[in-house]
Amino acid sequence: MKVAIITGGAKGIGKAIGLKLASLDTDIAIWDIVDEGEQSAKEISSTHKVKARFYKVDVSSYNEVSETIKKVLDDFNKIHIMVNNAGITRDGLLLRMKPEEWQSVINVNLTGCFNCTKTVLKTMISQRWGRIINISSIIGITGNFGQSNYAASKAGIIGFTKSVAKEVAKRNITANAIAPGFIETDMTLSLPDEVKETYQKQIPLKRLGKPADIANIVAFLTSEDASYITGQVINVDGGLLM
Ligand code: NAP
Repeated sequence: MKVAIITGGAKGIGKAIGLKLASLDTDIAIWDIVDEGEQSAKEISSTHKVKARFYKVDVSSYNEVSETIKKVLDDFNKIHIMVNNAGITRDGLLLRMKPEEWQSVINVNLTGCFNCTKTVLKTMISQRWGRIINISSIIGITGNFGQSNYAASKAGIIGFTKSVAKEVAKRNITANAIAPGFIETDMTLSLPDEVKETYQKQIPLKRLGKPADIANIVAFLTSEDASYITGQVINVDGGLLM
């Protein structure tokens, strides 16, 4: 039985990842800042024969993350898979962007990824097995109008993932990034319909992505079949970035 931590696992893409990995007999530790994580953990353990627990944690706090890793180890004994998925947006043109809007996005999306990866690494090294999967975004590759903070954080995740992959490869740990395109979740719900329609027209596969589209590739990357893949960025975007 493997154990996975999924940050931002209360809803959206993170919740879909939890459900998918649970269907593959993986115990799930949901980390999130919102209380909905409790409900998601219950849903996972009632629909699959796995253990699922919710931990309320702010991934941007190194202290909270260190304490929560200890609790997970007490509860599950091992940690095989770390999915760094928690993320936020605070969009605005750079000219109008407040320093706190820049900083909060970097703190959650990029520093959160650092905090969680660094603290989980010791356990993975002692197990001589680990899978780190970081959720970036195609915006980290292309940049986007009004998203300089978000794009910088997601591009940072790509450089971070490749560096970690090089550092830990000899320990039998892989690190990969996934770059989703436009996925239907709370994060994209608030976008105006005309923006969604414009995206949809540009997507070769002519549909917006679903959280399960991301969960499926995470499941593959955590499997033995993916043991020779590391340091990669895998776009899951309906072909948008070709
Ligand atoms: P979501 O529905 O907003 O879910 C993200 C979860 O992370 C939320 O529960 C959120 O809480 C939580 N979170 C925020 N800050 C946190 C913190 N400091 N510590 C712990 N948890 C925190 O987003 P999603 O669409 O599923 O996105 C998941 C990931 O995919 C993100 O990294 C996002 O950037 C990336 N992504 C999404 C898309 C897309 O189209 N949806 C595209 C490319 C990449 P709150 O609700 O309070 O913020």
